[in-house]
Amino acid sequence: MQDTPKANRLHIGIFGRRNAGKSSLINTLTNQDIALVSDVPGTTTDPVFKAMEILPLGPCMIIDTAGIDDEGLLGELRIKKSREVLNQTDVALLVIDPEMGISDFERELKSAIKAKNIPIIGVLNKSDQGEIELKTLEQELGLSLLAVSSLTGAGFKQLKERIIQVAPANFEEPHIVGDLINPGDICVLVVPIDLAAPKGRLILPQVQTIRDILDNDAIAMVVKERELREALDGLSKKPRLVITDSQAFLKVAADTPDDVMMTSFSILFARYKGDLLELVRGAKAIERLQPGDQVLIAEACTHHSQADDIGRVQIPRWLRQYVGGELNFQWFSGSGYPDNLEEYQLVVHCGGCMINRRQMLYRIQMARESKVPIVNYGVLLAFVHGILKRTLLPFPLARMALEEEQG
Ligand code: SF4
Repeated sequence: MQDTPKANRLHIGIFGRRNAGKSSLINTLTNQDIALVSDVPGTTTDPVFKAMEILPLGPCMIIDTAGIDDEGLLGELRIKKSREVLNQTDVALLVIDPEMGISDFERELKSAIKAKNIPIIGVLNKSDQGEIELKTLEQELGLSLLAVSSLTGAGFKQLKERIIQVAPANFEEPHIVGDLINPGDICVLVVPIDLAAPKGRLILPQVQTIRDILDNDAIAMVVKERELREALDGLSKKPRLVITDSQAFLKVAADTPDDVMMTSFSILFARYKGDLLELVRGAKAIERLQPGDQVLIAEACTHHSQADDIGRVQIPRWLRQYVGGELNFQWFSGSGYPDNLEEYQLVVHCGGCMINRRQMLYRIQMARESKVPIVNYGVLLAFVHGILKRTLLPFPLARMALEEEQG
């Protein structure tokens, strides 16, 4: 828990043809021997993630990708994985080898990066290798190029400055809860310690929420659901907010006075990571589900599932009860995302704590483009328990979206 979580780092993707010098560029950029460097083209297969600090940007995640000109069936798979990295890239470096020059590979990749509105830096590597026609290469690519040499380190200071200049200021939403509270406010966090809770520690969203409360000079009080009422009774002033794990929604809603705002970690993270309004609209689509409909349950990581797993057991059970019949569930977990979303009547996504905001927004956008409603676990649980409206009290726009949908 001492490191900055992977998902909060600025993600810098390194793209280019095989043997354009991507891996050695990363090694020089990070001052570490972290990527496989070889004269044999295609040494990098799966994307390689490496955490580093770039001042004053702070923690960054460097992603080394396979060559975009890879060949054969395996090559196609590597290219697909490299392209998928774009969905979690905040800044893209397109690496050019002066000897190879500019080809359709670079031009197509540049267009793909631009189409996703990702800031792009053209990097001409191996600038130590004799005379280079920089202007000609720039014209052929339609992008200005920064000349660097991984061998001598020339140009890397400028490269870091350029990354800082183009990095989106809002690559991660700044607040989990900080904009909802004032200094001195009390926030009560309800954390059930059941069999599903990891041994001896809190989970990442809980830790991040506590940190955000402390960063905003407010007071964080952490209780289990059984002690909530006693804790509230013992407070000399009303808490600003009660934040609960979705699993304890009903008990917490019953024990929290009506004049105290209540929400959940999942709803806070739906906003922090994604698009709360779209997820709230997605919740309303549950009313239109019919027995026999297809529902995709998507999880962004492949965690070990529990006996009463939320994605495998609880959510299917709640949805079946709500619909009053059987539904066709399909599960998808890991870094990929299915490209046949239009076949589903609903996508139910996990909280996405292991992916960054750009990637979560991409997943929501894919659903929107496929005209499939998408909801996340926390918003769905609040909806099927009949308390979504109450948990949206801190978020007037999302509450309005719910009311609009309700007609
Ligand atoms: S919320 Fe999603 S990404 Fe986070 S642990 Fe659960 S399944 Fe994995």
